[in-house]
Amino acid sequence: MSRFDVFSAPIPLLPLKNVVIFPRNVVTMLVGRARSIQAVEEALTRDRRIVVTTHRDPEIDDPRPDDLHRVGTLVEIVSVERQQGSNIQVILEGLSRVTIRSFDNSRPFYWVEVEQAVEEIVNESEGAILAGVIHDLIQRYSEIKNKLNPEVMEMILQTTDPSHLADLVTTQLIAEADRRQQYLENFNPIDRLEKLSVQLSTDVEMSELEQKIKERVRAQIDRNQREYYLREQLKVIHDELSGEGGNEIEQLRERVIERGLPEEAAEKVLREITRLERMPAVSAEATIVRNYIDTVLAMPWHEESEDNFDLDHAQAVLDADHYGLEHVKERVIEFLAVRALTQDMPDASGGTAILCLVGPPGVGKTSLGRSIAQAMGREFVRVSLGGVRDEAEIRGHRRTYIGAYPGRIVSALKTAGTINPVILLDEIDKLSSDYRGDPASALLEVLDPEQNKFFTDHFLDMPYDLSKVLFLTTSNNLGGIPAPLLDRLEVIEIGGYTEDEKIGIARNHLLPKQLEAHGLPADSLQISERMWMEILRGYTREAGVRNLERQIATLCRKAARDIVRGEIEAEDGEVPVIRLTPKRLEEFLGPKRYGYEQQFNESMIGVAIGLGKTSVGGEIIPVEVAVMPGSGKLTITGQAGDVMRESAQAALSYARSRAEQLGIAPDFQESIDIHIHLPEGATPKDGPSAGITMATALISAVARRPVDHSIAMTGEITLRGRVLPIGGLKEKTLAAHRNGIRTVIAPAENQRDLVHIPEKVQKEMTFIWVDNMDQVINATLLADDIELRAPKPETNGKEAESPLDLPIDEAHPDLPADAGGYE
Ligand code: ADP
Repeated sequence: MSRFDVFSAPIPLLPLKNVVIFPRNVVTMLVGRARSIQAVEEALTRDRRIVVTTHRDPEIDDPRPDDLHRVGTLVEIVSVERQQGSNIQVILEGLSRVTIRSFDNSRPFYWVEVEQAVEEIVNESEGAILAGVIHDLIQRYSEIKNKLNPEVMEMILQTTDPSHLADLVTTQLIAEADRRQQYLENFNPIDRLEKLSVQLSTDVEMSELEQKIKERVRAQIDRNQREYYLREQLKVIHDELSGEGGNEIEQLRERVIERGLPEEAAEKVLREITRLERMPAVSAEATIVRNYIDTVLAMPWHEESEDNFDLDHAQAVLDADHYGLEHVKERVIEFLAVRALTQDMPDASGGTAILCLVGPPGVGKTSLGRSIAQAMGREFVRVSLGGVRDEAEIRGHRRTYIGAYPGRIVSALKTAGTINPVILLDEIDKLSSDYRGDPASALLEVLDPEQNKFFTDHFLDMPYDLSKVLFLTTSNNLGGIPAPLLDRLEVIEIGGYTEDEKIGIARNHLLPKQLEAHGLPADSLQISERMWMEILRGYTREAGVRNLERQIATLCRKAARDIVRGEIEAEDGEVPVIRLTPKRLEEFLGPKRYGYEQQFNESMIGVAIGLGKTSVGGEIIPVEVAVMPGSGKLTITGQAGDVMRESAQAALSYARSRAEQLGIAPDFQESIDIHIHLPEGATPKDGPSAGITMATALISAVARRPVDHSIAMTGEITLRGRVLPIGGLKEKTLAAHRNGIRTVIAPAENQRDLVHIPEKVQKEMTFIWVDNMDQVINATLLADDIELRAPKPETNGKEAESPLDLPIDEAHPDLPADAGGYE
């Protein structure tokens, strides 16, 4: 800017309220006062320059010279724009500081004579240092306040002239007109910069302080909030642990009292509850303790159902659920009667005997158990013992290890919810023992009335009274029951069913049950007697009715399918009825699985048909014997065992003793090897009843005479050929009958068992009662040149068509006395 002292001519004056314009400052403003507008217009007609100065008192509208600051700014009018009304908007750019020397009030506006302000000379290095300080400060200021726009910042940072820099910063930093005026009147740029730097650093410090305070306040707020939050959490935890948790603990204590636990048990649980109270609620240990307490509290301690000993009612329930089984039902009724009389006399042994229903699968043992419970009005729980080998299964696991749980007996009681349910221990013959202890002895303790009043399950770890429980047991065969256990049991045997019985069961029980289960109306599936036979013979081969029930279920499923598909026409809006025809039977059940025709439809050398009693009822057991040149070796394959070997030896001895009559060499054994084979599948459970069968097959093989294929046999022999009685005549006879064999050879002593065999079967069967082996040979070997003398065997009225009817001597002096029987 060029220097000048006094402008030669007066210049129009524009008084400003509250606005101070600095050199180089560009300001946009509205001009409204008439005098001011005229001043602007005057200036525009000249060199567009005008002097601005500020009111000392902004309230005064028409200032006199004394009301105006003497130091103002010479500005240039950059542009003028007329606004609405009489206002104009002007843009002014500051040119330089001026001091007003005189006012001329002759026109509507002031004219002034001004003098160029002369600024003090600046020491350059001082100026540079200060500029640097200002630049620093302005940056900090801008960072903190975030107030200056980037362009302005850029401009400030690029300005190094002290005066210019000072004015620039003042216009940005200082808003109040008074203070701006002070800066305008200060002609010493260094001084202005110093003041500004003080101002700036104060501002920055204040801002920084403010920032810190804000941060601290925010931190405080945060801390308070966090603390509040933590405190709340703590409160919840406290509530959990002491407040509410305490309530829960109290509730547990109350429940102990409510549940009326026996004293010892109550004390123990209360101790555990106290332990629980002291534990962190979420620890693993607390979970274990909690589980224990819950289990104890969930056990029945005095809940008891009332017994119904009405025998007529019991009979009705048994009859409703079970077809036939008259002798079994009778035994059950007797059992209940004794129970009723002795219920208050725990020492009476009759009342404490434990029923054991023994029989092949599917004969209704479990369902009888259920009926007994129903008849007595007790809860029923079945505990399967199949495959239980660990004592802990019965007695529970000690609580000290994780995953421990009560034994099956205690669990059953928990399920029952009463202290006097009927618990059916299913398949006690399947208990096995190994290194993990003897489950049978644990079971004995459960069943023993002397001990079971204080039965201690390892998990419960307190005595629990089992004395009111009615235990029933089932078993597939007597042989598998551990002897000490068998001692305690009152055995009721249920043999297999005859075909007629099976049809009765199917018609009256299984079919209605399955129809209902499949949502079919009663009578919607009609099966004739003949078709029932077809089902039995073609699709089942079993002593019980389990498989039969399965086949009936399949029929119902297929019937339901056809009815839903609409393939079955209902007659006159009636329920659709499916009549089972042979064609439909094959369609529903597939091709027949068993041929009813006798399997051994040809008489063969070395093959005799035995009868055995297996775990699934009676079975026919063909015994095959092959002889070949050799040195007297005896091989037995298939299911064998020592007992079989003894039987085979006895058979051989007998054959030798009869060598002459049979037409074989007395030392036949020395030049041949003998191979006896018994089929693997049908393992007789009653031991050595295959003696006469083996002997027959053996003699047939050695003598080369075929065995009559229409005869089945059962009986054991002694070395001297005496035939000893066997067990399971009923099952064996039914098995023969089932397989289409109508003649059975059996030991004479077994005639007493005839009563157990259903009459219908008896009528169809011919029994040949024998007491020595000669009679068996006479009855079975097909030949006419063998001469054995034996008393004529008895039959059940009918004449057995004996192929060899030759008497033999009773005495065999060459043989030792009977070596005793096996039965
Ligand atoms: P188990 O326990 O002897 O193996 P289940 O009791 O399980 O046999 O019987 C198998 C099915 O046969 C059950 O549905 C049962 O109701 C039925 N059942 C068995 N015997 C008879 C019967 N005499 N009268 C009616 N249903 C019977």
